[in-house]
Amino acid sequence: MNNEKKFIYLMGVIALFFALVYKLVNFVIYSKDMKFVSISITLLNILLMIIITVIILSSIVSYLILKGKKISRNIMKINLNIVNGMYPLIIITTKIFSIPKNDIRKVYVILNNNYIYSNKYNFKAEDIMLITPHCLQKNFCKYKVTNDIDNCRQCGQCNVQDLVKLKQKYNVKAFVATGGTLARKIIIENKPKAVIAIACERDLTSGIQDVSKFHVIGILNKRPNGPCFNTEIDIEKVEEAIKFFLGGN
Ligand code: SF4
Repeated sequence: MNNEKKFIYLMGVIALFFALVYKLVNFVIYSKDMKFVSISITLLNILLMIIITVIILSSIVSYLILKGKKISRNIMKINLNIVNGMYPLIIITTKIFSIPKNDIRKVYVILNNNYIYSNKYNFKAEDIMLITPHCLQKNFCKYKVTNDIDNCRQCGQCNVQDLVKLKQKYNVKAFVATGGTLARKIIIENKPKAVIAIACERDLTSGIQDVSKFHVIGILNKRPNGPCFNTEIDIEKVEEAIKFFLGGN
């Protein structure tokens, strides 16, 4: 099926879905069987109440997690799944209320990291991958670390050197990707058990969601020179994440 057909197919499915909803609503509204109408409205009310309750409970759990309260691992996992499901809607709502998307993305990364940190792991070093975008490398550097991070000459001008040192110290895998798509490709090809991803809010959020079958800790980069240019990282946080996945914490 070519892309045009896929697009038309999906639009057709969406139109069919709304046609069915339309038909169902009309069927209930114009039904002469008042018992059927009453049952349908009751079921709809129950469904809406369940959705509202889930949203309220998820908001409370998320708030408690963000405030550093101890929450059971299973509840955190359920909550993360609910937030994942609602995420597109949450992002649309940010536009309506002019809330910066990055603020919400930060919250998502914290909820994800808290869940991961609530687990216990004991991975081998070779199953752990560090991955960062190439904006971490100084723009004047002529060494092609995106081919191989070991091409870094460790001149001390940027945090790529620190990643190389961590790679050597713990024997983990480390990559510098030219972009988010390549980062996903590298992760999928290398099949690590755990990923420590360093990126901006947008790339981290979409990356964590796209490779959700891996255990991912997201670490936000620092951007003292603006986005995507000579970025920096808190290397202690990266080392802490490595030790955690190795079973040290
Ligand atoms: S630390 Fe490595 S990547 Fe960074 S500027 Fe120096 S040689 Fe280039």
